Amino acid sequence: ALPVIYAITPTYSRPVQKAELTRLANTFRQVARLHWILVEDAAVRTELVSRFVARDGLTCTHLHVPTPRRYKRPGLPRATEQRNAGLAWLRQRYQHLLPPQPGVLFFADNDNTYSLELFQEMRTTRKVSVWPVGLVGGRRYERPIVEKGKVVGWYTGWRADRPFAIDMAGFAVSLQVILSNPKAVFKRRGSQPGMQESDFLKQITTVEELEPKANNCTKVLVWHTRTEKVNLANEPKYRLDTVKIEV
Ligand code: UDP
Ligand code: MN
Repeated sequence: ALPVIYAITPTYSRPVQKAELTRLANTFRQVARLHWILVEDAAVRTELVSRFVARDGLTCTHLHVPTPRRYKRPGLPRATEQRNAGLAWLRQRYQHLLPPQPGVLFFADNDNTYSLELFQEMRTTRKVSVWPVGLVGGRRYERPIVEKGKVVGWYTGWRADRPFAIDMAGFAVSLQVILSNPKAVFKRRGSQPGMQESDFLKQITTVEELEPKANNCTKVLVWHTRTEKVNLANEPKYRLDTVKIEV
């Protein structure tokens, strides 16, 4: 059987949330053997997301964990607690299954754009695989530089001193590696902006070990798109609509 792809998606409440989740689900629905781990940044599972998950037609695990207030500040890394909750769920689920069924994990933010080809590429991950990411780091793309099948450096416009100069959308990890490194997590303390990926990858692999995908990292199959903030300037303060509508 094909290895299962586990996609960990942190999500939080805002006017575009349901639109973003709808678009993401429409992509995931076209991918075989995908297990969606949707982690709400919230104190409870919200009704909107619960209803969405019940109808999305996907294999989905719906978790929640709130980001502590003190970490909700510009410049601080986002979704640390949510990604860790996804990792913890996977570890707890599979710690007693020996050998675990083959699987591949990746971190799928709710606003990126994913080519279906990306899933074919990551499915063959043995330990940790990497590929280019479009529209990120102040450039058209960032990518691992590959020589003779090995990653030897990073093409990036931003903080080239990062040990792994790669966006969250640019790598996948085998379930086996996640299970055999039970302490590897995303860190809050001491983590600088943009160092989340490096801090995490350092705990589980080395640059030499990385497996380049997407034709030796020469194809962009995922884009770090960002959704514009919606204009709600004309929302009524009184004379509200006569029906209550979920958007
Ligand atoms: N996120 C979250 N809580 C927040 C802000 C963001 O869970 O308070 C999630 C968001 O849903 C996304 C990920 O963290 O999956 C990255 O956030 P965003 O896309 O806003 O960041 P950027 O595109 O700037 O990296
Ligand atoms: Mn984003």
